[in-house]
Amino acid sequence: PVPVVAVVGRPNVGKSTLVNRIIGRRQAVVEDVPGVTRDRVPYDAQWAGREFTVVDTGGWEPDAKDRAAAIAAQAETAVATADVVLFVVDAVVGSTDVDEAAVRMLRRSAKPVILVANKADNAAVEVEATSLWSLGLGEPYAVSALHGRGSGELLDAIMEAL
Ligand code: GDP
Ligand code: MG
Repeated sequence: PVPVVAVVGRPNVGKSTLVNRIIGRRQAVVEDVPGVTRDRVPYDAQWAGREFTVVDTGGWEPDAKDRAAAIAAQAETAVATADVVLFVVDAVVGSTDVDEAAVRMLRRSAKPVILVANKADNAAVEVEATSLWSLGLGEPYAVSALHGRGSGELLDAIMEAL
């Protein structure tokens, strides 16, 4: 079976942009409006001659109600059915209460997690991103999903984790 990588995180951190970067085409819907991705959306991907499935999810939020709760539940199902999870945070904003709640959810899942510090468009944000060690998920991979910065290193780390 093809290994599965789930991409999760709070709304607007750049999950869909990262998915597009990983698959090398603009297929996942990127929006400034949170809540555009409602389900789990799988895409075929490959790196270093290996095939895998990358799953885009909607924004995860704790204590969500109604539609947001359904989106969060889909994200949790994506985590439960993944081999490796990419947990995406916004390196410009830094870690938030919602990110910390997501970390607790991810710990309960006991899945291998790679921490992605996205929106690291320049060296200054990349340096800032080291503070995300505090989330307790190991090394933060500073990436600019938009421009491609750091994406090769991230993909190598994904391959090692699979
Ligand atoms: P999602 O809700 O987590 O899927 O986030 P999206 O991928 O839809 O992106 C939300 C917004 O963040 C969009 O305006 C993206 O263009 C922007 N964005 C995503 N990745 C980056 C990045 O690496 N750098 C910058 N500057 N903006 C980004
Ligand atoms: Mg999205």
